[in-house]
Amino acid sequence: MPDYRNLIGGELVPASDGRTLDSVNPATGEVWARIPASGAPDAEAAVAAARRAFPAWSALPALARAGYLRKVSEVFARNAEELARLETRDNGRILRDTLKKDLPGMAYLWQLAAGQCLDAAKGDTVILGPDTLGLTRREPYGVAVCIIPWNSPISTFSAKAAYALAAGNTVIVKPAEQASASVLRLGELLAEVFPPGVLNIVSGLGEEVGDALVRHRDVAKISLTGSTATGQAITRASADALKPLTFELGGKSPNIVFPDADLDAAAQGVTVNSVYTGNAGQVCVAGSRILIHHSIWDELLDRITRICAELVLDDPLDLRTTMGPIVSSAQYEHVRSYLELAEKEGASLLFGGRTGAEVVPGLPGGYWVSPTLYTTTDNSLRLCQEEIFGPVAVAMPFSSDEEALAIANDSRYGLAAGVWTRDLGRAHRFVRDLQSGTVWVNTFRQMPPGLPFGGVKDSGYGHDSVLEYTREKAAIIQI
Ligand code: NAD
Repeated sequence: MPDYRNLIGGELVPASDGRTLDSVNPATGEVWARIPASGAPDAEAAVAAARRAFPAWSALPALARAGYLRKVSEVFARNAEELARLETRDNGRILRDTLKKDLPGMAYLWQLAAGQCLDAAKGDTVILGPDTLGLTRREPYGVAVCIIPWNSPISTFSAKAAYALAAGNTVIVKPAEQASASVLRLGELLAEVFPPGVLNIVSGLGEEVGDALVRHRDVAKISLTGSTATGQAITRASADALKPLTFELGGKSPNIVFPDADLDAAAQGVTVNSVYTGNAGQVCVAGSRILIHHSIWDELLDRITRICAELVLDDPLDLRTTMGPIVSSAQYEHVRSYLELAEKEGASLLFGGRTGAEVVPGLPGGYWVSPTLYTTTDNSLRLCQEEIFGPVAVAMPFSSDEEALAIANDSRYGLAAGVWTRDLGRAHRFVRDLQSGTVWVNTFRQMPPGLPFGGVKDSGYGHDSVLEYTREKAAIIQI
């Protein structure tokens, strides 16, 4: 059974006290690997290594740093198949997505970040007067801690580490305890690429090694992609030291379909690659509230139902599979609890609601939930307000643009939204008025590197980019 190690100071090491956590294949429920259950001493060692490496790394000319990042891109290109299979086995995200979308995207992202190393070195010049010159310069923070979730570990690792390193920080990545294997394997591959201590990876529980990292006095910057509750816990833990934070958190995204939309495209867009396929709805931007104009209610629901009936739930390593399992037994129970809640709250079940071996009889130990859709007219239900993080959506009718907007914005979250219409004026009004970090029009879940991706309200603030990992300094020079 694979036994993964942390990457600390250029060395691949177990947790200092030897403790491990089991990694479970969610499609089968079987333990398939072990990862270090790191604690405070490991956090201490990683911070010390990153701190030692910082002066030399940050002093490198931007173009020299870019050279290292381009080598990472090559590592992704050379090892794409292995990494994609590992991640699929570890977290159940279907191979179709890890292999065909994520990994090719990573090689590109690290190239892009390499090209942005110079942006972090740029400043402004302001002529304040004939004899007075104003200058700004950007500086890296120092040791940056990047905490990532389990649903797309390699993508989230890259979106943070590439930019933090490009800006001249040294980095510690803390992958999620449910799915760390692909990132730890990446650590093995990247140990040869970076000077010791520039990139460190420590796995373990959030409340143990994660907490020790965010509280550490020598950690200068924290970026989290995770739940809102974890964002709040990190805010509290780092408050005394006033650490700068970047938070990409949870969501309950609306997908709004108007009668003038291309209904085939809309039905496809609100189901596939939104709340049902890929990660089985375990996606921060999942369009889990589908708002449908009453005049197309039956027609669209009929198309949605037909699309979902064709989804293939099976071994995520099989390229024919279009929807995988829930990541862990805890998350499985969490999703199941919402199926019970929906019934108690009086929502109507349109399809789905099945779990376990009933869904995929060939893989009875896996954490399976069938694509599920409820209908209701009451957006105040917990079903409509809370993030479920599974293949469970709720459809609600509306009669006017104003009503659609009011329902969409009636949420503590504001991560993403979809609008399906051919009316350009309406599209622009919704882009303006939706309280959301991203608005997609006639598409969903396109997240190209180069555009900001982040949330508002309880979905967080800031977004991963090279500049996010720098701070600005001003100089006024009297000549
Ligand atoms: P989580 O918040 O439970 O865990 C995320 C990471 O934080 C893990 O590495 C975990 O170990 C760590 N952590 C937990 N408690 C901590 C603490 N007290 N101190 C330091 N670190 C701690 O989230 P999850 O269950 O892994 O992922 C699902 C959540 O992530 C959902 O809410 C989802 O919406 C969100 N998410 C957001 C985005 C985005 O870009 N907005 C992307 C993917 C997932």
